[in-house]
Amino acid sequence: MSQRTLVILKPDAVRRGLIGEIVGRIERKADWRISAMELRTLDRETLEQHYAEHVGRPFYEPLLEFMASGPAVVMVVEGERVIEGVRGLAGPTDPIAAPPGSIRGDFGTIVRENLIHASDSEESAERELKIFFPSHG
Ligand code: ADP
Ligand code: MG
Repeated sequence: MSQRTLVILKPDAVRRGLIGEIVGRIERKADWRISAMELRTLDRETLEQHYAEHVGRPFYEPLLEFMASGPAVVMVVEGERVIEGVRGLAGPTDPIAAPPGSIRGDFGTIVRENLIHASDSEESAERELKIFFPSHG
């Protein structure tokens, strides 16, 4: 089942020089392709839409500040079961709980600065792709 998902390499990943490492893991998966990719500093309005589900949580404001703190890489990845697949490559939200071999498990320690965002369902992917790539086919 071919799908599309939104992937964001967060500002910590860009600052730490991990773009190639992370993109490489995604790129090497059979049948997946990157169909859009851009280095972009995210603005408040975009982030409010993206993280609407978390409004009011204690981590919400620091999260938005962090996500706007420098350039991120926003990308569209397409291919066989890519939504579940990129979530698997990323690992659980808390990098300390994430297994070695996952992106968060290999490179992260801080929950907020966990390197990567990936859509968590078909509904989320559709909603998030519209926010970040409104004109992408
Ligand atoms: P995920 O990115 O794994 O889907 P969530 O949707 O739960 O995780 O949270 C969105 C983002 O908010 C996380 O990736 C992380 O950057 C941040 N975050 C989540 N929970 C916390 C927390 N308890 N403390 C700090 N930051 C958090
Ligand atoms: Mg989430």
